[in-house]
Amino acid sequence: MRFVTFEDVKGQRVGLHQPDNGVVIDLSRAAPRLPTDMLSLIALGSDNIAAACNGQSGADVSLPDSEIRILAPIPLPARNIFCVGKNYHDHIDEVRASSFVKSKTDVDVPDYPVLFTKAPSCVIGPGDTIPAHLDDTDSTDYEGELAVIIGKGGRGIADKDVWNHIFGYTVLNDVTARTIQIRHGQWFLGKSIDGFCPLGPAIVTPDEIPDVQSLRLRTLVNGDVRQDTVVSNMIFDIPTIITTLSRTIHLNPGDVIATGTPSGVAMGFNPPKFLKKGDIVSVRIDGVGELTNVVG
Ligand code: MG
Repeated sequence: MRFVTFEDVKGQRVGLHQPDNGVVIDLSRAAPRLPTDMLSLIALGSDNIAAACNGQSGADVSLPDSEIRILAPIPLPARNIFCVGKNYHDHIDEVRASSFVKSKTDVDVPDYPVLFTKAPSCVIGPGDTIPAHLDDTDSTDYEGELAVIIGKGGRGIADKDVWNHIFGYTVLNDVTARTIQIRHGQWFLGKSIDGFCPLGPAIVTPDEIPDVQSLRLRTLVNGDVRQDTVVSNMIFDIPTIITTLSRTIHLNPGDVIATGTPSGVAMGFNPPKFLKKGDIVSVRIDGVGELTNVVG
C-alpha cells in the first residue's frame, strides 16, 4: 500500500495512492473507521489498518490526483526527524575533499552511526517550494535519502525484530545550508531551516519492497543526475540504525529516520553547485517514489 496525506476542498485526510491509474482512494470514505491523519493511522498498527481496509470498494471513493493536493505524508512529525550523517563512503570522500571542511579529521569513516536531528517544522511536501532565500549564506544543498517510518514503537529493539517495527519507506531530501551547518559546529541549525525537509509523496509499506537494500536512489537537479547509488552502499544498514537509536531512545509510531546521503551533493563539486532560485530538485527511489520541489 502507498499511503498519502492529501487535501482538497473538504480538508486534509489520508488516502491510498494508486499511481498506475492516477487516483487516490479517499480512506475517510472507503474505510470510515480509520483515523484521517497519518500519525493516528500509523499508531493503529498494520493489522488493524488492513482489517479496516478489507472490503473497501475503491470505485466510488477514488479521486483523480489532479483534483487533490498531495502533502508530505506526515506533514508535521510529532518530534524531530532522526538522521544519519556520513553513511556512504563516497559522500565522506567528497566532503573530505571539499574546501568547505577545515578539519579533515572530522570526516573520517565513523566507527558508530553519526546521529543528528532536524526540527519537525522544516517538513514540506512534494511540489512545495524549498525556501532557499531563508539561507542568507547562499549555500543551500540537497541530500537525497531513503527515509524509514517507524510503525510499532519500542526501546531495545533487537536486530532480528527490526523489520517488524517498520511501517514503511518514503523519500526525503535533507536540504542543508552548508555554511550555517559548518560555522555553528552542530548541524541542527543549518538543517532545520523552515522548508528544508521535503518528504514524500507516499509511505510505501514493506510488502511492496521485496529488498530494501537493492533500491536505487538518484537525485536530479534540472534533469542533471547528481546522486546515483543503491541503498546497500550504506555504511550502517537499517537494522544497525534502528537498534542503535532504540538502545536508549523509545521509538514511537510515526518517527521518521533519514538514512544518509551518497556522493554528488552540491558542496562536492568544485566550484560547488549550490541550489538557486528556479532549480527543480527531484529525488527518485525506485519502487518508493519521486519527490520533486522547486527552489525559491
Ligand atoms: Mg543527510
